[in-house]
Amino acid sequence: MASLVLLMCHNKVVGSTHLFWKRKRKEMDILLIGPPGAGKGTQAEKLSQLLSLRHIASGDLFHKAFEEQSELGLKARRYVDLGELVPDDITIPMVIRHIEEPESIQGVVLDGFPRTLAQAQTLDAELQRLDRQLDLAIYLKVSREELLQRLAGRFFCQANQHVYHTKFRPPKVADRCDLDGSKLYQRPDDAGEAMRRRLVIYFNQTTQVLDYYREQHKLRVVDGNQSIDQVQEMLMNEINDYMSREAKA
Ligand SMILES: [Zn+2]
Repeated sequence: MASLVLLMCHNKVVGSTHLFWKRKRKEMDILLIGPPGAGKGTQAEKLSQLLSLRHIASGDLFHKAFEEQSELGLKARRYVDLGELVPDDITIPMVIRHIEEPESIQGVVLDGFPRTLAQAQTLDAELQRLDRQLDLAIYLKVSREELLQRLAGRFFCQANQHVYHTKFRPPKVADRCDLDGSKLYQRPDDAGEAMRRRLVIYFNQTTQVLDYYREQHKLRVVDGNQSIDQVQEMLMNEINDYMSREAKA
């Protein structure tokens, strides 16, 4: 019963969203910021479906570019193979190219990019060139203890990177993917000291990015220590609030 009520709430939210949409046909570009394990990918996917926005995840971009064997993809591959971060002069053109494509005409949900202040500044300049601008930057705030717990229990399947969790989403058969039967593994940087280091780097970089968007009055913060449905509802509230202000302005 509870889930039914929630579903109805969502429909109402979506309904009003579409009203604003019709009134104002401007595209909507949203950025989701959140540490690894915050559920950013899941939420970005849902937002993209609800609002007909294109979901642009930086991880997927690289994956796609590798498969297409594009020039940028081949360049990026070298860094990924070495376990290094792909430099900005490859990442930024990849993201911008996707924003320029017809599929992004209604707007985009950016997930995993920008992750540094320099990237955020370049993104702004590039969007301006395209006569668009970032509407909202939403930070999914999750406590460090919660992240450690979530990441430490995370497993991926070898065939398709389907995600499992020992506590939140255990596989039906131990160590095997429900969907394709391949073996599950844990990412080395999801556990122990490597993960702790990854989080420290993440929080250091993100503080600057958050300050940047806060100064522009574009930052919204959503408590990510809740269920997927609750987080989604709060995200929609923030977006609807923004859109109703825009419509009045
Ligand atoms: Zn799988």
